[in-house]
Amino acid sequence: MALQPCTEVSAEKANADAPDQALAVKELAVLKERGQREVFCGLTGIVWLHRKMQDAFFLVVGSRTCAHLIQSAAGVMIFAEPRFGTAILGERDLAGLADANDELERVVEQLLSRRPDIGTLFLVGSCPSEVIKLDLAKAAEKLNHRYFPKVRVLNYSGSGIETTFTQGEDACLGSMVPVLPPKPDETAELLVVGSLADVVEDQFQRLFDSLGIGPVAFFPPRRASQLPRVGKGTKLLLAQPFLSDTARLLMARGAELLRSPYPLALRGRRLG
Ligand code: SF4
Repeated sequence: MALQPCTEVSAEKANADAPDQALAVKELAVLKERGQREVFCGLTGIVWLHRKMQDAFFLVVGSRTCAHLIQSAAGVMIFAEPRFGTAILGERDLAGLADANDELERVVEQLLSRRPDIGTLFLVGSCPSEVIKLDLAKAAEKLNHRYFPKVRVLNYSGSGIETTFTQGEDACLGSMVPVLPPKPDETAELLVVGSLADVVEDQFQRLFDSLGIGPVAFFPPRRASQLPRVGKGTKLLLAQPFLSDTARLLMARGAELLRSPYPLALRGRRLG
């Protein structure tokens, strides 16, 4: 996990030890901000993403620890057909005795034959897959070649070495940006970016309709196969504060970010 050592010192103690530095220490009273960035790895984003995109499946390529984390965080009952799973890297994979790519292809084949409802498959990297340098981008490309257009295969990293709690969704949405269809013209369209509960999304839609704002699309969509289009004229409204990579990628495709204050951080945020 991407934790940093805690180095907090109480201001009173520091002032007593070095009174001539009291002013400087006062300014340094907060040495470490605690927050959601430090909690769990990016795999946890799957908990809400798999509920949002109902034809997507998240296949974590990881260890038993990853499987336990995701299973206990998502709390799906054992007899349900969840839309996530873990391809567990065994000792033979980790020791390089088995070809992990072949094993992964076998697991994907098994999964897709059992679950014909899957429209988009995400291969999600973890600490173990990174440590053994398993190239999931290449694996996804190869599998996509084999299964597209029935199933689109994408990949991103949810590993605790690279990502924290808030970055899993950003990495997932970022992996979808290159496959969003282009807009045919430059008419204004609103794109709300960030997973919202369906009921909240419906409320947003009603509000936008009554304000006369439209057309409006949501990203991620409820079905991963119904991707919103993007291009010049797309106005981005971030529904989550932690989607900066996704926003950057969308802007590179011509979208424009609607700037708005977000009530987070120590004293809230201001524009400008
Ligand atoms: S990806 Fe890494 S930090 Fe996350 S559960 Fe797996 S081993 Fe742990």
